Amino acid sequence: MVRLELTLAIIKPHAVKNPVALSYIRNEIKNKFIVVKTKRVSLDKETASNFYKEHVGKFFYNRLVTFMCSGSVDVHVLGGGGAVAGWRRALGPTAALRAQFLQPACLRALFGISDTRNVAHGSDSPASAEREIKFFFPEFSFYDWHHTDEVMFR
Ligand code: ADP
Ligand code: MG
Repeated sequence: MVRLELTLAIIKPHAVKNPVALSYIRNEIKNKFIVVKTKRVSLDKETASNFYKEHVGKFFYNRLVTFMCSGSVDVHVLGGGGAVAGWRRALGPTAALRAQFLQPACLRALFGISDTRNVAHGSDSPASAEREIKFFFPEFSFYDWHHTDEVMFR
């Protein structure tokens, strides 16, 4: 049986506002993952601060929170074998300029415009993914997902 993993992706405001970036990213997602849940939201300061609370005190924290509230974001739950690492690989390194040297075809190299405006978020582990999915989709049933997963991919 194939056990599919889930991850949380957030397409950041500057990418949602850029039609070329957004359609490229959506294609990449459709080619590589099952889109399990999706919603477009405008984050308020409290929600963005809370989501990124592991970064409280870092020099970029306020900048990050302000940026994440600067326009709508697309939040996706993505499924697939090794989805957590797979989505991080598609994103590439955190810093966009570094990404252009290290992995020129990754999303952050292609559409990232600064260390903060780096296209999208991706969960960094299956445990973070579970926490982050619950954060944005409190009603999400992991039980149902795993059940469907077993039925579909046995
Ligand atoms: P990642 O998104 O790759 O998991 P982190 O969790 O370390 O990266 O950081 C969260 C977000 O904070 C990054 O995606 C980026 O938007 C921003 N960020 C991280 N490091 C920096 C930095 N050195 N300068 C500016 N912004 C940063
Ligand atoms: Mg992170």
